[in-house]
Amino acid sequence: MADSPATDVDVVVVGAGMAGLFALHHFRALGFSAIVLEAGDGVGGTWYWNRYPGARCDVPSLEYSYGFSEELQQEWEWSEVFPAQPELERYFNHVADRFDLRRDIRLNTRVTSATFDDEARTWAVETEQGDRFVARFVVMATGPLSVPNVPAIPGRDEFRGTVLQTSRWPDGDLGLEGKRIGLIGTGSSGVQTTPELAALADHLYVFQRTPTYTWPSHNGPLDPEVQEAWKRDYVECRRNQRRTFGGVTGSTGAIILAMPGERAILEATDEERLAMVDERGFDASRAWSDVARDPEANELGAELYREMVRRTVKDPELAESLSPRGFPIGCKRPVIDSSYFETFNRDDVTLVDLRKGGIERITETGIETEQGHFELDVIVFATGFDAMTGALARIDVRGRDGAPLRDEWAAGPRTYLGLQVAGFPNLFTVSGPGSPSVLGNMVVSSEHHVEWIGACLVHMRERGYATVEPTDDAQDAWVEHVNEIAQGTMFIAPTCSSWYVGANIPGKPRVFMPYVGGLPAYIDRVEEIVANDYEGFAFT
Ligand code: FAD
Ligand code: NAP
Repeated sequence: MADSPATDVDVVVVGAGMAGLFALHHFRALGFSAIVLEAGDGVGGTWYWNRYPGARCDVPSLEYSYGFSEELQQEWEWSEVFPAQPELERYFNHVADRFDLRRDIRLNTRVTSATFDDEARTWAVETEQGDRFVARFVVMATGPLSVPNVPAIPGRDEFRGTVLQTSRWPDGDLGLEGKRIGLIGTGSSGVQTTPELAALADHLYVFQRTPTYTWPSHNGPLDPEVQEAWKRDYVECRRNQRRTFGGVTGSTGAIILAMPGERAILEATDEERLAMVDERGFDASRAWSDVARDPEANELGAELYREMVRRTVKDPELAESLSPRGFPIGCKRPVIDSSYFETFNRDDVTLVDLRKGGIERITETGIETEQGHFELDVIVFATGFDAMTGALARIDVRGRDGAPLRDEWAAGPRTYLGLQVAGFPNLFTVSGPGSPSVLGNMVVSSEHHVEWIGACLVHMRERGYATVEPTDDAQDAWVEHVNEIAQGTMFIAPTCSSWYVGANIPGKPRVFMPYVGGLPAYIDRVEEIVANDYEGFAFT
């Protein structure tokens, strides 16, 4: 580097999830000293915190795994097509041990602030316990879905039973068997945990504000031959992942969400549409060329979806309550389930359709709604996350001249490539807003980001640069591009309210945050920028 200010370490990485673990390994390999600060008591991030019954990945295990080490991918044996939380937590712990990462990871260490010193050109990172680390670079691997959304329902503290949050689920046996359990929320987490809680509970009450589009996972044991085939050809498989839109090749044989078909639903007859339901079940709703883009086609697809709900749920009134209406397929993150709708055919499961009368308050003994009081022993919140910006908003990040990131992002996040923010030199985000991140297989996009950051650090070392940050112009143009390509997609349909646009958090600016152009286009653009001598980045 140009000059070498006194630092404790070259890089502070915040977060020991999938991204932070790889970052530590990679930066070390490139000759940089690094330390990881992690708020939790274990590694694995998402797969450490979300240990609720049913927590499971919906990207096939062979694809939702690191590609950086041939030895690792040869050694590790996956047991299921879609791995459950315990297997993923074991995997990330194995990675921490195998690559000797733990000696540079501080657990139970929550970062509260990060402040850039203009003169020294260093960052000071402070923690809840009062530790202070000075570093040249800060890499925020804080996760796009790591801060729980805890809705302000009155009376929460008065409940005398057990209150649980899916994303902060305690380890060990919680004694849920035979209890009356109330579950609030029917997004991915709520849908995954519904059948599992139903199996444990004396009675399960599912409090549903908005019905969900969810598709069956067809999960099962992983075929050893498929695993062998991947192991024979991992390098090519990993290359293909980066050349597919969402970072999932589908070549594991797992049945994943139906891709758009050749045929337009608008051109099909009613009989042909229903024949598709007979053939493809829930997948019939998406298996057309026009459903993802045309609102009228989308509504026809949604009607096929509701047809499948009616075929699955025996009670017609209940089926109608569970049927999504009024917002398009593809507006929210697709949900993948195991026997979700079938669970509502059980006598010991009750759907509380909050559109018929909402939650008024939590009482000492249960949940009071406009439809009456539900007596409960346990309340489970599956109410989502302050996504994409939540973790950074909880750290007091200050860049040049003490400017707070919170102010820079007051009207919504602004980044260059989801990697850096103008005015915040040497600060990097992994899977930041403005990158593909949550719209695809996050292992693929995170590895790409960490590799990019590593290459940028090496570039600076070789040329003697002290700082890097985007220019305002480059950042403005990127933000505009990210917004532009989202136009016409269901993500920003007027009827769509999702966490992608911050709609689940009161007061959050309504801005579509991820890059919707897919991994290949994104990676190509990033490579082009580097080839053009880091176009849009300013080095000093
Ligand atoms: P995380 O795993 O979230 O790790 C971030 C870490 O940073 C956390 O451990 C957190 O404690 C720590 N941290 C945050 N703030 C601070 C701070 N101030 N100080 C110290 N530490 C801090 N993605 C997929 O691609 N496929 C899937 O099937 C999939 N399933 C998911 C299922 C669930 C239940 C959830 C919640 C998410 C899922 N995701 C999935 C997204 C998932 O978050 C990513 O795949 C991936 O795990 C993100 O890794 P990460 O390291 O970027 O962030
Ligand atoms: P989510 O999708 O945001 O769902 C939250 C649910 O809580 C919604 O049903 C929401 O209803 C409800 N809710 C929020 N506040 C409420 C209130 N005050 N009263 C009643 N209901 C309320 O959150 P999530 O299920 O945790 O999933 C978040 C993301 O994590 C997913 O989209 C996915 O990216 C990831 N994830 C993936 C998997 C997987 O299968 N791999 C599993 C879990 C999570 P409304 O819709 O009406 O707001």
